[in-house]
Amino acid sequence: MSRDQKYDAIVVGGGHNGLVAATYLAKAGKNVLLLEGASELGGATTSVRPFPEYDARLSRYSYLVSLLPDQIVADLGINFKTLERSIASYTPYKSGAKDGGLLISQNWDDRTADSFRELTGGDQEGKKWQEFYNEIAVLAERIAPYMLQPLKSAADLKSEIALPEVWKFMMERPIGEVIRERFQDDVVRGVALTDALIGTFTSAQDLQANRCFLYHLIGNGTGQWRVPQGGMGAFVTELNRVALLNGVEIELDSKVVGLDSGPSGVAVTTSAGDKYVATDLLFAGAPQTLAKLRGQGAPSSLEGSQMKINMLLSRLPRLKSGVDPKLAFAGTFHVNETYSQLENAYQVAKRGDIPSDLPLEMYCHTLTDPTILSPELSQRGFHTLTLFGLHTPAALFDADPSGAKDAAKSAAISSLNQYLEDPIESVLAVCSDGSLAIEVKSPIDLDNDLGLPRGNIFHRDLDFPFLDGTELTALNWGSETDDAHIFLAGAGARRGGGVSGIAGHNAAMAVLAKD
Ligand SMILES: Cc1cc2nc3c(=O)[nH]c(=O)nc-3n(C[C@H](O)[C@H](O)[C@H](O)COP(=O)(O)OP(=O)(O)OC[C@H]3O[C@@H](n4cnc5c(N)ncnc54)[C@H](O)[C@@H]3O)c2cc1C
Repeated sequence: MSRDQKYDAIVVGGGHNGLVAATYLAKAGKNVLLLEGASELGGATTSVRPFPEYDARLSRYSYLVSLLPDQIVADLGINFKTLERSIASYTPYKSGAKDGGLLISQNWDDRTADSFRELTGGDQEGKKWQEFYNEIAVLAERIAPYMLQPLKSAADLKSEIALPEVWKFMMERPIGEVIRERFQDDVVRGVALTDALIGTFTSAQDLQANRCFLYHLIGNGTGQWRVPQGGMGAFVTELNRVALLNGVEIELDSKVVGLDSGPSGVAVTTSAGDKYVATDLLFAGAPQTLAKLRGQGAPSSLEGSQMKINMLLSRLPRLKSGVDPKLAFAGTFHVNETYSQLENAYQVAKRGDIPSDLPLEMYCHTLTDPTILSPELSQRGFHTLTLFGLHTPAALFDADPSGAKDAAKSAAISSLNQYLEDPIESVLAVCSDGSLAIEVKSPIDLDNDLGLPRGNIFHRDLDFPFLDGTELTALNWGSETDDAHIFLAGAGARRGGGVSGIAGHNAAMAVLAKD
């Protein structure tokens, strides 16, 4: 440990963005210290063995990758692969007494066309679906490279993207309005709308939903959500390897509790009382935490609004619709996510109640990548199941965190069981103490365990990836602050949010641009 040394840069926070920032700087010849408050690296990108007697390493928090640019993987030389899911989504529905399901393949095919026809009675909605997503695919391809470049103004970016109609419906008109205009069916509308609400407690009519929608559809130029091979922890293992290889010094259990800045640089103090100095500080925790350390008011933001439930199953449950569970759970499995159910759940949660028809997103990692299970568990037919529940804002958990968590868990389970022939409890692996292999994380847990302010999975509200003219003129990379030596390198930076490394890359570029 070199406490007397002055570093070129100190990176605070060893989530994936902090590791990306530190490695880019070290590769550029800077001497870099990374301080992580927890005893492990990774932040929201970790894999753990939540049920220790079972050799199953689950992505505890984040679980799918879309936003990570290939360029970052190549620049850093990490050996990390993501795998395509052949199924994009399955949405079970009830039609009178009949149980059905909308199955959408990753690439449009006859099976998808049949499924749309069965739901809507014709081909029109399927055609509109293809048109809508083909238009967005062109935008994704054109806009993605800009995520790793200095920011542009809205007018300049709009003109360079040269898709005025798509720009208008993605950035300027409420996405809920656009979806209702483009589609007639409540289920189809809901499948589209979900991408606007993941981790964002808002109505479909609010432009905040557009920001969320955009980030869910432009990742790496395709918007495809892919499975991290080996689980999310494999990403962090590789980032740690290349950070060390390039000479980054890493200190765990080093929570930064004090920060001073002057004309020649910054000084930080950890909770253990250690002091370090550097020319620049890249803060890869939440902007709210940085503001507090600097004695400033926290930037305003929506609170987190999701439940994360991790499960280990002894087998996949059968569905009432009769579809093969290996198809249904291979992509994103939507529950209670028709357009009207999503809007209704938002209103119920806003009034202060846990929605009984809880909207859920689920997927089975092991159908695409069994390597997170031991060969023995795989052979016995075990699977993992990830459940991400929407519209459960932190405020619902304040008065009685554990009681509300139990209530939200019950709502999630009964919502899911509406569509299952085998209730989910009947297929959960059983631990030797008789407990079921299921763990639940509320927004309050995310705040306590990871320091995500009020459980916001993106640290703070997502922003559009351009400047609107009223912002800090020094905002070039989206990482700059009003202190020339302090940069935001975590998800809360402009264009951060999600597992992307973009905030880390851009903060490193902002520091290097000063030289
Ligand atoms: C339940 C859940 C599911 C998600 N699912 C997905 C998904 O499937 N796909 C996706 O793209 N995104 C997903 N996300 C969002 C994504 O995981 C995050 O936006 C992203 O990982 C943030 O990365 P980061 O490195 O910026 O910050 P974090 O992962 O939050 O890491 C910040 C690190 O900084 C440390 N730190 C904070 N303050 C200090 C301090 N004072 N001193 C020292 N260290 C400090 C923390 O301990 C932490 O390790 C999900 C998030 C959650 C919580």
